[in-house]
Amino acid sequence: MPKIDPARLIGDLRRLAEFGRHGTGVHRLSLTDIDIQSRHWLCQRLTDAGLDAQIDGVGTVFGRSRAKGPVLLMGSHTDTQPKGGWLDGAMGVIYALEIARAFAADPACAGLGIDVASWIDEEGHFPVGFLGSRAFVGELELKDVTGAKSRDGVALGDALKAAKLDGVAPVRLEPGRYKGYLEAHVEQGGTLEREAKRIGVVSAIVGIRGGVAVFKGEQNHAGTTPMPLRKDAAVALFEFATRLNRSFAEVAGPHTVWTFGRVVLEPGSPSVIPGHTELTLQFRDPDTPRLDALSQRLDAMLAGTNAAGPCSVVLIQPRRTEPAPMDAGFQDVIETVAAKHAPGLVRRMHSAAGHDAMVLARHMPSAMLFVPSIRGISHDIAEDTSEADLVLGCQVAADAAAAFLKA
Ligand SMILES: [Zn+2]
Repeated sequence: MPKIDPARLIGDLRRLAEFGRHGTGVHRLSLTDIDIQSRHWLCQRLTDAGLDAQIDGVGTVFGRSRAKGPVLLMGSHTDTQPKGGWLDGAMGVIYALEIARAFAADPACAGLGIDVASWIDEEGHFPVGFLGSRAFVGELELKDVTGAKSRDGVALGDALKAAKLDGVAPVRLEPGRYKGYLEAHVEQGGTLEREAKRIGVVSAIVGIRGGVAVFKGEQNHAGTTPMPLRKDAAVALFEFATRLNRSFAEVAGPHTVWTFGRVVLEPGSPSVIPGHTELTLQFRDPDTPRLDALSQRLDAMLAGTNAAGPCSVVLIQPRRTEPAPMDAGFQDVIETVAAKHAPGLVRRMHSAAGHDAMVLARHMPSAMLFVPSIRGISHDIAEDTSEADLVLGCQVAADAAAAFLKA
């Protein structure tokens, strides 16, 4: 089995974290100067590992194996959230790099290929959503999204131009090349740590639904308008949210989560009855029938509010991402090799966060492996994982990659 080099792995993880280092974390937003510098560094590391490496026309770093195959695609993302963690995404990419090196050094892996990808903008600095992986599989065309503006107001096309990537062709999925896709990631939750497990084998990535409920009432004087005559859009919003919260709890499963992430009350003045309010709602579950049940509760609540008055409500910007089940056979392979390294410390679990693997899973057998996040913290500079768990996760991923390719 391929043997990973722990010191080389940790060294590259720490080196990558220097690009945009922010205290114990990293601030490295997609296609900013520091992100581009880190991509050139990664490209060189992939080249040194014997891969044909490039930064493609959307910013994805891609290292292609010269092995005759079969080939496994591995990767994750190296862009971060603002003031984010050093491992979210970066770990999966550096694992892939290390595993490509371990394969090259192992005669038992002769002919087996690992292609390595750092998919651009998994974290959504540009409001496109999984730009790199979706461009790779052909689910979006760059020309349709070059106008998308980042949080800093920079158009995607201009950011690519500044990075001298305009005119470079995006790398595209070559039909028939891959036996599958493997993405390793920090859990970003506290389940593994709480249960003292060391490896998570992902069964499915949750689906996400939601939207913005917009309430229309009547703006008026907060002193002179008697209560029975009011059309208070704030009261309508609060009642809606409270009742929906109770209604969701009645049909929720063990993995269901829902969030009222943002409210807007307009005009937002102490002496004015709000005439226009907005409630942003999101709910997640790994199971489609459960999501359907929650959607029915939401639809019923919208209809009930409109029927009862005095305010009206509509749902705008509806969001719908389907759950992505991981490949059953690939899960079994990971669980078997993980159990050899960490008997009794392996658990199947769903991913409550979105990952590029949900895009790749639509096109090839895909799997994910989790390592514990200390105190379950992620999207923050406090995010961390013990070195022992980082090393174990990479060796398990390497063995799983070899076993899957040889099966
Ligand atoms: Zn991530």
